[in-house]
Amino acid sequence: MQVAEAPVEERTYSFWEQVNRMFDRAAAHTKHPKGLLDQIKACNSVYRMEFPVKRDDGSIEVVRAYRAEHSHHKLPTKGGIRYAPNVNEDEVMALAALMTYKCAIVDVPFGGAKGGVKIDRRQYSEAELERITRRYTYELLKKNFIGPGVDVPAPDYGTGPREMAWILDTYNSFSSNPLEALACVTGKPVGQGGVRGRKEATGRGVFFGVREACSVEEDMKALGLQPGLGGKTVVVQGLGNVGYHAAKFLQEGGAVLVGLAEIEGAIYNPDGLDLESVMEHRRRTGSILNFPGAKNLERPQDALELPCDILVPAALENQITAENAPHIQAKIIAEAANGPVTIEAEEILLKKGVLIIPDVYLNAGGVTVSYFEWLRNLYHVRFGRLSKRFEERTFSRILEVIEDLTGKKVPVELVQEVAHGADEEDLVNSGLEETMINAYQEILAIRREHGVDLRTAAFIDAINKVAQSYLELGIFP
Ligand code: NAD
Repeated sequence: MQVAEAPVEERTYSFWEQVNRMFDRAAAHTKHPKGLLDQIKACNSVYRMEFPVKRDDGSIEVVRAYRAEHSHHKLPTKGGIRYAPNVNEDEVMALAALMTYKCAIVDVPFGGAKGGVKIDRRQYSEAELERITRRYTYELLKKNFIGPGVDVPAPDYGTGPREMAWILDTYNSFSSNPLEALACVTGKPVGQGGVRGRKEATGRGVFFGVREACSVEEDMKALGLQPGLGGKTVVVQGLGNVGYHAAKFLQEGGAVLVGLAEIEGAIYNPDGLDLESVMEHRRRTGSILNFPGAKNLERPQDALELPCDILVPAALENQITAENAPHIQAKIIAEAANGPVTIEAEEILLKKGVLIIPDVYLNAGGVTVSYFEWLRNLYHVRFGRLSKRFEERTFSRILEVIEDLTGKKVPVELVQEVAHGADEEDLVNSGLEETMINAYQEILAIRREHGVDLRTAAFIDAINKVAQSYLELGIFP
C-alpha cells in the first residue's frame, strides 16, 4: 500500500469532538431536520462525582468518577464502567455516545451510557477496589443512575465479572424490588445471574465481524487479498478481555497471529505465535517478551506498524494517530477497542485504501450479549432450559425414523452431533453470530448506496434508527 502524500489537518480533536465529527459526516447523508440531529447527538446527562475511599493503610483518598447517559430515546441506558487513570468527562461522553449508536446498529433496544472511575487499578488492593466499586454504585443509586429499567452498567477496560458482582450486591442491599434487581448490571459471574458466553462475547463478536468483512469478495479483491479468514496474518494490541478472546477466535478461525502487544512490549514472529503458549509464558514470566522464537519490539505501539493483513487494536482510544498512520502496513483495521483510530489518522488510512471495520459495529458483541443477560435476568430462566431435552428427543426420533426407512444405522458420532439440544451458550453464541452478520450486511448495503466508508455507513444506520425512534415517540412531529 502507498503512503499518503496529501497533508492532513493538524488539529487534534478531543474524543467527544471526534465522535461528533463522525456523526456530522454521516448526518450529511440523511434528511433529518437539524433539531432532531442535535438531539440525537447531545449527551443527555452527565453525573460527575467525588467520594472518599479508605486505603488499606488507613489514609483517605478522594476518587473522581463519572456516569454519562447519552440518550434516553430507549430505556434503560446501557454501557460499561471503565477503571483507568486517564478517565475524564469528555471520554465518558464520547464512549456513551458510541454506545447509543452501537445499540442502534445491532438493534439492541437501549440508549447509550458509560461510566468511568479515574484510578489505576493496579495501584489498589482487591479490598480497596471493592470499597471503590461499592461506593461508586451507591453514588449512582443516590442519583437514580442505576437500575434494571434506568441504566445498566457492564464491564469495560479495567473491570470484569468481579466488579459487576460487587455492583449487584450493593444494588441489592438498597433495592426494594428484588424480583428485578438481578438485571441492574450485566457481565456478572454466571453464578450471580450472568449469562454463559458474556465474557467472551466482545471478542467473539469481533471474530464474527472480521470473518464477515473478509468474506466480501469485492473488498478483498480491492485489498489484493483472497476472500476468507484462513491464512490471513493478524496483529493484536492488548490481550485483555476483548483482545485475548478476539485473538483466540481469529486463530481458531484459521488466521495466523504474527504480532501481539501488551503494556510491557510487543512480540513478532512472521511464522505465527500460538496464543495459549504466549499467555502461559506471560503467566510464568510476567511478560510476553522473550517468547521463544519471537522477536521483541521495544515499545508496545511498534506492533501497530508491523506487516500484517489485519490489525486489531484492542486496548484503548487514540492509538493510531496522524503520526503513526502513514507507517501502518495492515490492509484491514478491526477496531476491537473504542476509538483506537483518530479522525485525522482515519483520513490518511482511507486514502491508503485501508478497510476500517469501525468500533461502533465491531465491538457490539458485548452489549448484544449483555442484552441477552438482561433478558435472562428479567425472565428468571436459563436460555434453553425449557427446550434442550425436547429438541434432543425430536432429533433422536428423526434419526430413528431415518434408520427405520433406510435400514442403516446412523454412526454414534453423528447421533451425538445431530441429536444435540441447544444449551444456553449455544443459543447466546448463535444469537450473537446472527446479530453481527445481519448488522454487517446492513452497513454494507448503506455503504454501497451512499458510496461512503464503513464507519460513515454505520453512523448513517444508527442516526436513521434513533431518529425513527424519536419520531415514533412524537417528540418531533
Ligand atoms: P481489559 O482491561 O480487559 O484489557 C485491556 C488490555 O490492554 C490490558 O491487558 C492492558 O494491559 C492492555 N493495554 C493497555 N494499554 C496498552 C498498550 N498501549 N499496548 C498494549 N496493550 C495495552 O479491557 P477490555 O475490556 O478488553 O477493553 C479493551 C477495549 O475494548 C476498550 O477500548 C473498551 O472500551 C473496549 N470494549 C470492551 C468491551 C467489553 O465487553 N469488555 C466491550 C466493548 C468495547
